[in-house]
Amino acid sequence: MATYDVVLKGGRVLDPAQGIDAMLDIGTKHGRIAAVAENLPTADAWLVLDVADHFVTPGLIDLHTHIYWGGTDLGVLPDQTCLPAGVTTAVDAGSAGWANFTGFRHFVIGQSRTRAFAFVNISSIGITDMRVGENLNLAYCGVEDAIKAVEANRDVALGVKVRVAEKICGPNGLEPLRRAAEVRDATNTRMMVHISDCEQPVAEILAHLKPGDIITHCFTGRGQLILDQQRGTVLPEVRAAQQSGITFDVGHGQGSFSFAVARAALADGFLPDTLSTDLHNYSSHYTARSLPDVMSKFLFLGRDIPDVVARTTRNPAAAIGRADSLGHLRVGGTADITALRLVSGPYHMMDAEEEKFTNDRYLAASYTLRAGEVYNQAGRAARRWYGPRTEEG
Ligand SMILES: [Zn+2]
Repeated sequence: MATYDVVLKGGRVLDPAQGIDAMLDIGTKHGRIAAVAENLPTADAWLVLDVADHFVTPGLIDLHTHIYWGGTDLGVLPDQTCLPAGVTTAVDAGSAGWANFTGFRHFVIGQSRTRAFAFVNISSIGITDMRVGENLNLAYCGVEDAIKAVEANRDVALGVKVRVAEKICGPNGLEPLRRAAEVRDATNTRMMVHISDCEQPVAEILAHLKPGDIITHCFTGRGQLILDQQRGTVLPEVRAAQQSGITFDVGHGQGSFSFAVARAALADGFLPDTLSTDLHNYSSHYTARSLPDVMSKFLFLGRDIPDVVARTTRNPAAAIGRADSLGHLRVGGTADITALRLVSGPYHMMDAEEEKFTNDRYLAASYTLRAGEVYNQAGRAARRWYGPRTEEG
């Protein structure tokens, strides 16, 4: 019997959760990590991947995606978008509410090789149609039903999602947020809050959050910002919230990432806890193409590779309360592994405000192992495209 099923040979292993940055091989067996060491034997392995000149990391975790393909207009298929990009775990950010969560669970989460979790939208219909705000009619925002959906799907439901924005909530203001907080408290879970395009000050929204909750779209350039716009510095309430244990997630997307805001925040010493795509049908073709694309933007903004890896492995695992099982390369753990290559050459980037930059390098995923099975770029073909952009955050 083979000692290892797959050996990733000769890469630079970066595992921020364990403080590892070293030239090591990784061997997998029966879908688990069997060894992380120098010079592993390869003679009887069934597959040897030459990952010289690669960074070998825990399978990337994308904390903000929309993968309810076929059930919402913004859904993309996880196995065709996440796995080729090095993402082994995708968190869906409220595509489904209680009324359509069963379909999401059955037809997408249950049918995908990508590991998927979800936040249940406070609105029963989820984000079914990007053109119509899901919280405009409060009758959709039933607390009891959302609680039942979280409770009935504890293995995959991480908590509750709410989008707070003028065109999504209209005259209902922060009432959907208040209701989502009730769901969080009743289920003892987490709340993920979208803040792009809000008319309410961020500090007012933060007052409803607790440690463990997640602010997504933290570097949005639309509506109220995390910055004091006079001074260009990060609001003291935002810093205090992060220090208290509230996660600040990038959630790039199509309407929610501004290079200018990110640059100002980084210059003021404020770092996002997690980098994520807000991958969806309207963003994934140009503004936020993949998680390595978002990581590459942060390289351009001055962060280094170990740093962007930490914010896409260890940190999101902690943010969803799965630091024990995900986001690391511990022997015995599931063999979710990504091999990233730093590619030289012009790389064109665009933020959600259509500000464009070119860098001379970028990160790309060469190999993705999900529970020991090997994926590469091949799955990228069969994508659906619905046409014109909308204003989604
Ligand atoms: Zn989103």
